[in-house]
Amino acid sequence: MRVLTTIGETRAALDVARAGGASVGLVPTMGYLHAGHRSLIDRSVAEQSLTAMTIFVNPLQFGASEDLSSYPRDLDADLAMAEAAGVDVVLHPSVEEMYPQPILTSVAVADVSTPMEGASRPTHFVGVATVVAKLFNIAGPCTAYFGEKDWQQLAVVRRMASDLSFPVAVVGCPTVREPDGLALSSRNAYLTPEERAAAPVLHWSLVAGAAAIAAGERDAKRVRELIADLVQAEPLAQLDYAEVVDAATLQEVDPLAGSLRLLVAARFGRARLIDNQGATVVAGSGEAAPTEQGAPG
Ligand code: AMP
Repeated sequence: MRVLTTIGETRAALDVARAGGASVGLVPTMGYLHAGHRSLIDRSVAEQSLTAMTIFVNPLQFGASEDLSSYPRDLDADLAMAEAAGVDVVLHPSVEEMYPQPILTSVAVADVSTPMEGASRPTHFVGVATVVAKLFNIAGPCTAYFGEKDWQQLAVVRRMASDLSFPVAVVGCPTVREPDGLALSSRNAYLTPEERAAAPVLHWSLVAGAAAIAAGERDAKRVRELIADLVQAEPLAQLDYAEVVDAATLQEVDPLAGSLRLLVAARFGRARLIDNQGATVVAGSGEAAPTEQGAPG
């Protein structure tokens, strides 16, 4: 495994690999790797001849009052996991390498970025889209693997790649969970034991919302309220939002129809956690099925 710190070396390594006939998989991360990241790496290693992972805590996507300085980091453990998983190239650049001068050019993906995470974290998705655009330009033609855990991010990245004709196929990978339903997240490290015990309420409230849709509920407001009430019944949770939206556009749908995504965000002490769940209303039928698979189009 090669561990690189510069854009130039990484671009050269991947260009040489492609020239030799390799297909390139790209797994962008902020490090502090867990089994969710590992699932993305495993998929890339299975599908591509070379896997490149990036580890970069991107200041641009953190708000002024957010956890940039305290974001958990463990480069040695990350490199050990990456090597064991079969990663070929790691790019771990400094902030100066990625942003040698103040950014005057940024990428904003309208509409998909606006609700939910975009409303709560107004500069977040410009930061995400801009760094992912840079990583796509550094990596060159490749298949990039992102987690469905960050559903809105996946939708933003897909739309950016399509709108700007990046030579990158974006693949969404299912959310990896703890046995009690909590989605794996680097930010779970912030949870006290009591908060950790309470946090699976996010998943189970979404499962209940999807079950209500499967049972015939078509009123978006009632589904939102069902999820919100379940989260708010947990004293350690401070709800940020509970939404049910079109899975691809992230816009409201009422009455509920088509491919839907239920999304929730809440704070547990220091940790702000997000989760989501799919549901599909089949046209012309009273039937609906909760879905975990399927990516925004
Ligand atoms: P992060 O390091 O949090 O920026 O995440 C890097 C990538 O891993 C993103 O594409 C995330 O969506 C993905 N990811 C994070 N947690 C999970 C999880 N529990 N299951 C699947 N993918 C995940």
